[in-house]
Amino acid sequence: MNEVKRPKKPLIFYYGIVLLVLLLFNFLAMPWLARRQVQEVDYGTFLDMAEKKELGQVEVQQQENQILFTDKDKTTVYKTGMMPDPDLTQTLKDSGASFEGEIIEQTNPIISFLLTWVLPIVIFIVIGEYMSKKLMQHAGGPNAMMFGKSNAKVYVKSSEGIKFSDVAGEDEAKENLSEIVDYLHNPNKYREIGATMPKGILLVGPPGTGKTMLAKAVAGESNVPFFSMSGSEFVEMFVGMGASKVRDLFKQAKEKAPCIVFIDEIDAIGQKRDGRFGGNDEREQTLNQLLTEMDGFEENTGVIILAATNRPESLDPALTRPGRFDRRVPVELPDLKGREEILKVHAKKVKVDEHVDFSKIARMASGASGAELANIINEAALRAVRDGRRFVTQSDLEESIEVVIAGYQKKNAILTDAEKKIVAYHEIGHALVAARQTNSAPVQKITIVPRTSGALGYTMQVDEGNHYLMSQEELENKIATLTGGRAAEELVFHSASTGASNDIEQATKLARAMITRYGMSKDFDMVALETVTNQYLGGDASLACSAQTQAEIDQQVVALVKRQHAKAVKILEENRKKLDELAKYLYEKETITGEEFMSILNA
Ligand code: ADP
Repeated sequence: MNEVKRPKKPLIFYYGIVLLVLLLFNFLAMPWLARRQVQEVDYGTFLDMAEKKELGQVEVQQQENQILFTDKDKTTVYKTGMMPDPDLTQTLKDSGASFEGEIIEQTNPIISFLLTWVLPIVIFIVIGEYMSKKLMQHAGGPNAMMFGKSNAKVYVKSSEGIKFSDVAGEDEAKENLSEIVDYLHNPNKYREIGATMPKGILLVGPPGTGKTMLAKAVAGESNVPFFSMSGSEFVEMFVGMGASKVRDLFKQAKEKAPCIVFIDEIDAIGQKRDGRFGGNDEREQTLNQLLTEMDGFEENTGVIILAATNRPESLDPALTRPGRFDRRVPVELPDLKGREEILKVHAKKVKVDEHVDFSKIARMASGASGAELANIINEAALRAVRDGRRFVTQSDLEESIEVVIAGYQKKNAILTDAEKKIVAYHEIGHALVAARQTNSAPVQKITIVPRTSGALGYTMQVDEGNHYLMSQEELENKIATLTGGRAAEELVFHSASTGASNDIEQATKLARAMITRYGMSKDFDMVALETVTNQYLGGDASLACSAQTQAEIDQQVVALVKRQHAKAVKILEENRKKLDELAKYLYEKETITGEEFMSILNA
């Protein structure tokens, strides 16, 4: 799609430039233009030249107390100071010099007026014309001043816009949105029956799942103009500015109907008006204006509003009620199939070796968003270039997943022997506990090469398929696996290291969620003790229980993790020989695959 943006520079910028040109012109160019080169000489030289009759033109400037004169060819201008010389008139007369006209036409009033006043104004008008022409062309409105105007980006109709086929996976969302496309193509079909299209559609989901892309695809498929603006762009320093931007946006949209208006990150203006924090006048006014505008146009005008957010729970109920954003389309993280499709879509843009197994890559990148997958492909391509290859190989892709997850390999991080040994045992501890618990996912890769993220090593587990539900047992096993690293250290070195901090964090989070949210503790039964406040952004939770219950939750979390830790220690004790063998192997090789691991384990 051809994206046309309004010039971002404010008017004041252009005024500034004109002013600067004007000043430079007056200070530098004018005097230079007006003045011929003048050579200063003493009075004697003047008299000499007069005597030798070498003077051309002479001008006596009484006021400045100086005499200007030229040589016979009038090429050079000389200047000298005046002396009290009673014979001056006679001398000049004798020399045959001419007294007509001014030598330096400094003060030709018309030219000077033109240069200092008319020319800058002409420059100014030309720039102004040019700018307003540009503005009209891009925004479709005859407005030179941008204050209070929406600076929505307008994507003009074009044949090579983003299509639904460019958005991989997300089939449900696409199905939902294709109805809109059909409506925009064929509004009469809907009118005849009396059906009205939803005015607004809210795309909700975690960051990078393709919400913006879907909105563009709707515009691309229906071949209508597409106005795109971010919620934060409405909120200005001055109260009322945002509201006027909303008005302007809708005015433009109505002129261009049928069209699509896309408001990204709508939570920036659409937050609940709860009166807390003293309120934010500007934001509330903007929201009110948006609500009014959405009420104000008829269902069948053909303006469809798409909005995206990753914090749907924070939106004002007035905004999400039917009649405004009456449809909500979830855009979730892609599942295995979706990930594979997204990888393939992005792999089309780079040269990829034909033997690449995308389904394996998709399995390795579990939990990755569309944006992350796009990034993985690009990192792989960069790696291929770095290594001087002509196309991307499987190993490039696998390495780039690790880069995206754990950062680059630290080339010069040197672990001491003892440290390396600890890390090897730690990682094998995780893998062994995972493998020995039947329900844990098999290990894909274990490495003890330090990464820039600070990880000294890690065990990559691979989900075989999609998981929509997790049983209590699976969750417990996961906690046991997380504690496996520390358990191995304790078993072998009889001490703890700092390497387990991330495991501890994850295990605690999981155990907490089991008790407070999933109802997996007998004492609390099915009571929600925590509510998730930020579903799509990290899933922060806030406790909703008495202080006494909190203390009890803490005890239960500790007990749960302890149980799993003990279980992990037991598993490792039972497999002590394998633990040593595998740790030694990993220590020597630094990176081993899941197959190598399993073959040693099962040997
Ligand atoms: P969001 O608006 O949800 O934060 P975007 O739509 O801006 O995410 O997506 C960011 C980038 O991620 C896109 O430019 C695209 O390259 C990639 N991407 C995300 N989801 C998909 C998808 N389903 N198919 C193809 N590419 C995707």
